[in-house]
Amino acid sequence: MYRVIAFAFLLLIAAAAGDEARAEARFCHAVTDLSAAAPDAFECSGEPADYRQRSLWLKIDAPADSRIVYVHQTRFERLTAVFLYADGRTASQTVRRGNYGAHWRIGGQIAFEPPMLAAPVKTVLLRFDGLASHELLRIRLPDADEANAQAAVLPVVVGSAITLLALGALYTLLVGMALRRIYLLWHGLWAVTMVAWGLLWSQLALIVAPGIAGWSSQICTFLACLAVTLATISGVMALGKDMGPRALRIGTLALGLFIMPFGILVSLETGPALGWQVAVLGALTLSVLALVTLSLVNACRAGNADAKALAWAWGLPMATLALVQVIDVNDWVYGGGSQVVMLVAAALQTIWLSIAVTLRIAHLREERDKARAAEARMSELASRDALTGLLNRRGFVDRAEFMIEGRAAPGEPFGLLLIDVDHFKRVNDTYGHEAGDAVLCRIARRLERWEGPLCVAGRIGGEEFVLAVTGLTPIGLRQFAESVRRGIADLHHPELRTGHAVTVSIGVASADRALSFQRLYGWADQELYKAKANGRNQVIFRGSDRSAQAVTG
Ligand code: GH3
Ligand code: MG
Ligand code: MG
Repeated sequence: MYRVIAFAFLLLIAAAAGDEARAEARFCHAVTDLSAAAPDAFECSGEPADYRQRSLWLKIDAPADSRIVYVHQTRFERLTAVFLYADGRTASQTVRRGNYGAHWRIGGQIAFEPPMLAAPVKTVLLRFDGLASHELLRIRLPDADEANAQAAVLPVVVGSAITLLALGALYTLLVGMALRRIYLLWHGLWAVTMVAWGLLWSQLALIVAPGIAGWSSQICTFLACLAVTLATISGVMALGKDMGPRALRIGTLALGLFIMPFGILVSLETGPALGWQVAVLGALTLSVLALVTLSLVNACRAGNADAKALAWAWGLPMATLALVQVIDVNDWVYGGGSQVVMLVAAALQTIWLSIAVTLRIAHLREERDKARAAEARMSELASRDALTGLLNRRGFVDRAEFMIEGRAAPGEPFGLLLIDVDHFKRVNDTYGHEAGDAVLCRIARRLERWEGPLCVAGRIGGEEFVLAVTGLTPIGLRQFAESVRRGIADLHHPELRTGHAVTVSIGVASADRALSFQRLYGWADQELYKAKANGRNQVIFRGSDRSAQAVTG
């Protein structure tokens, strides 16, 4: 579900980015030739026209408490602010495309601060040369308190949002690569695009590249379109078949892809077509949003269990988008407006997605650990003997081979004790199979007491047991085998008549050089055979020098 919420936010945010703020030219205006001086007469009603190759003048009566004029960056060649003081004096400041001097401010604004003279500023004239569209102009004259607060707050908000967004982008890309999730990679690219957009729109990028001043508005339009395209691709990848019919998926993707070339067109435009192009761009973005909504409705109708949850998730960003359309947010966050709202939302969305992905990874890891534990349990069960719980032949051979390989030094001796219960058939025949089982289990428990890092026990046949031992010299091994024989013989078996002793014969083989387990087993088996032939209840030992010797009888 979080994928859908993420998708919804992506589109919402991208849509907000593409929606260039519009503001009425609320001021008196005049149009002159580029070389002309300030006009005497201004028109205070109607719309200015025919100014794109000329100069558009705006006349503003300065409020008594305003100390600064902010103009949001937009497409123009040159902008001059002329301050007319009450005593007739004037002061002017100019910025041009490619050089905003010290006038740019973080938050996408250009600031003109008149020099403090004895007389107050009465009127401000703004002269735009080569302005693309007066409809996109946003001009603010805040009072001193607001100007100070803006200087303090806007850089912090914008800087932290871009930092969070950049961290989120990096994390998403890394996780996407690690998990090989394509939609996360597309989302990461979206976040990277939004970081670039944020750096350019806010003008933070001017710190390192002052020459792009005035171009960022055009690049931002392209990046906003790229963001819509990337968000759409990421969403289609994430939702997959849940989106509904194939045609809808393809349609949404096609529309999302179409926005990018159209964005290039809009970003290159500096003439009157900009107005309708921006409107069409907004409509295209809304269409993508509508198609996604339609996909969710389809899934709900088809009875998809997830679809309702998805629709709820989708509803929130849709409502937010509608709200932003109805309420003018341009003056929010000290004139940062919809762009700051968008940047903060993008940062939160990316951080939120990062958390969701992290939780998902944690969940996957938990599942994987459980599966591994179950697998280990199964393999442990498969290597154990059901009756006695000792290692079965397979388990024992694995462990013994592991022991042989893991010896501290290749010359360290390794011994094998093959233990066979004497006349066990008689136990079964006389006392029954169950009594026989009990005897076998008791012998197994006794063998277990010798188990440790240097000794492992197993049951490799009906009444045949085995011990593998490392680190004992031939003499030590002989003594050990003897104590095993005696230990088993001394066991008391309440199932059997008092006085019925259960003894074992033991064939021992020892090697102090590389020797396969199978060879050693063969030797021990031969010695066991001899012990049986020799009268049982005894240990016969064979070292790697191939000398055989009966130890006891
Ligand atoms: P020997 O001293 O020559 O080894 O004589 P033995 O009777 O011990 O040897 P034999 O191979 O003739 O008989 C082994 C018996 O072990 C036969 C079989 O019924 C019994 N046996 C094998 N597995 C089990 C088991 O799991 N439970 C019980 N109760 N008996 C078993
Ligand atoms: Mg046997
Ligand atoms: Mg036997």
